[in-house]
Amino acid sequence: MYKGIAASRGIGIGSICRIIEQDLSFEAKLVEDTEAEKARFRKAIDEFIEETFAMADDVRENIGPQEADILMGHAVMIQDPAMSGEMVNMIETGQCAEAALTAVCDMFHGMFSGLEDEMMRQRAADIMDVKVCILKKLLGIEDIDISKVPQGTVLVCKDLTPSMTSQIVKENVAGIITEVGGPTSHSAILARALEIPAVLSVPGIVDAVSDKDTAVVDGTDGEVFVNPDGDVLSKFIIKREEFIKKKEELKKFMGRETLTADGDKLEVYCNIGTPKDAKKAMECDGEGVGLFRSEFLFMDNTHLPTEDEQFEAYKEAVETMEGKTVIIRTLDIGSDKDIPYMDFEKEENPFLGFRAVRYCLANQDMYKTQLRAIVRASAFGSAKIMVPLVTTVDEVRSVKKLVGEIKDELRREGADFDENIEVGCMMETAASTMIADLLAKEADFFSIGTNDLTGYTMAVDRGNAKVAYLYSAFQPAVLRSIRNIIECGRKEGIPVGMCGEAAADPLMIPLLMSFGLDEYSVNPVLVLTSRCIISKWSKAEADALAEKVMAMDNIEEIMATLKAAAKE
Ligand code: PEP
Ligand code: MG
Repeated sequence: MYKGIAASRGIGIGSICRIIEQDLSFEAKLVEDTEAEKARFRKAIDEFIEETFAMADDVRENIGPQEADILMGHAVMIQDPAMSGEMVNMIETGQCAEAALTAVCDMFHGMFSGLEDEMMRQRAADIMDVKVCILKKLLGIEDIDISKVPQGTVLVCKDLTPSMTSQIVKENVAGIITEVGGPTSHSAILARALEIPAVLSVPGIVDAVSDKDTAVVDGTDGEVFVNPDGDVLSKFIIKREEFIKKKEELKKFMGRETLTADGDKLEVYCNIGTPKDAKKAMECDGEGVGLFRSEFLFMDNTHLPTEDEQFEAYKEAVETMEGKTVIIRTLDIGSDKDIPYMDFEKEENPFLGFRAVRYCLANQDMYKTQLRAIVRASAFGSAKIMVPLVTTVDEVRSVKKLVGEIKDELRREGADFDENIEVGCMMETAASTMIADLLAKEADFFSIGTNDLTGYTMAVDRGNAKVAYLYSAFQPAVLRSIRNIIECGRKEGIPVGMCGEAAADPLMIPLLMSFGLDEYSVNPVLVLTSRCIISKWSKAEADALAEKVMAMDNIEEIMATLKAAAKE
């Protein structure tokens, strides 16, 4: 068995076809007729652009617009004067086209691949893809035609580039195995869009297998079996059938309301990190955004984002959601999440320190800029404000006071905004649990952040492996916190949601239903799964399970009981 990165879910079983890298070596020579060399170079680029546009058109039609944009990006990249212009300059000095192309692409590749940012590193991979495609044209090397592989093929290659992926005929490729690439690489994105099981980053796999070997690709667990014995094969044939059945079952939940087995209406929202993710939330049929982490605007930046920069980002998310609720969490940063231009002081205990709403209320100019941007964006749909790390009622009052002042200012300026914009409370500290009854009188809604609530309730530092066994939202202390928060919210008649990871946990969902949670905010890809699980539980069944579990005093017993009752 080979282990790799699970990049596209599902089980693929088929016959291996290796895509061996071709020899692209060339002899760099000096050219005398630079005009002729430039023409040869231009021809290769023109052919590449023409083919890439044609491929992008196919991809747009057969896969989707976002995937087509990846290929369009390649064509745009090579036309950038910083790239092709520099290559032409080099040819004019007498370098051959192959050498000019290689030097410039390698230079940009080196620049991007050294950066931390995953997107930038992806750009580095795209540059190499473009380089290889054009180099093949210059050297007259024909590509293997991936579009011609027979049905039931498992493609094995060093790296599956977007230009290769775009030739794939979905019906014929059962699985993909590569030696490089991560879960967010473009090849992973394309494999997921094609719904082909893929395992990436399996070192040495190309040399370890032969054409026509049988392979099982488990894209859910990131495992590969080559020439498996009968037992393994039958196990995965069953697993494949179960996966297909589940996928079909989930499709039924697209475009449907979220209803319990009794027909009670609940809501599945999405957690997003950028305005672009709102598109994903819509595609995945999220009923709103339960948590828009606004930190990205501040972290992916070299300066404090201005009011207009923030406004544009919030407006984009709100407009994309077409009137569905978008809960924007105000800046949740602190000394452990360092932002170089913000000059945080180092602290002994950053998780207990000067962060989130504490930092924001102490830096009111900065905070007002953000709040103004959110309030202005509320004119374009349904935006709500959520305050992170609340520990006192006064914090909520202070934020509401600022929002009131901002509304007055905007009224005076004649700007549009939602007069009734709500201010809610992120429930993620032990203090907020203890004063949930008081907070419920001041806040317009609650959203439970179990990621932090678990840490702060259990007094566990998530980075400390020695106490990791205590970090679970299923600990009796955390379950009691969750139940209390929901009860207090319901008593005051305010909606209660959950945006921590626990909201999507199939074992947690029946407990939350029993406690009376209204809104479950999950990763967009988990919307349908969560909706499906909710549909399987009636209130009476959930209550019976919760009653049993809430009487238990240790997590082992709780987990065993929940697993035995699970409906997946
Ligand atoms: C949480 O704490 O549960 C939460 C959703 O916020 P974050 O993970 O961004 O801290
Ligand atoms: Mg949190």
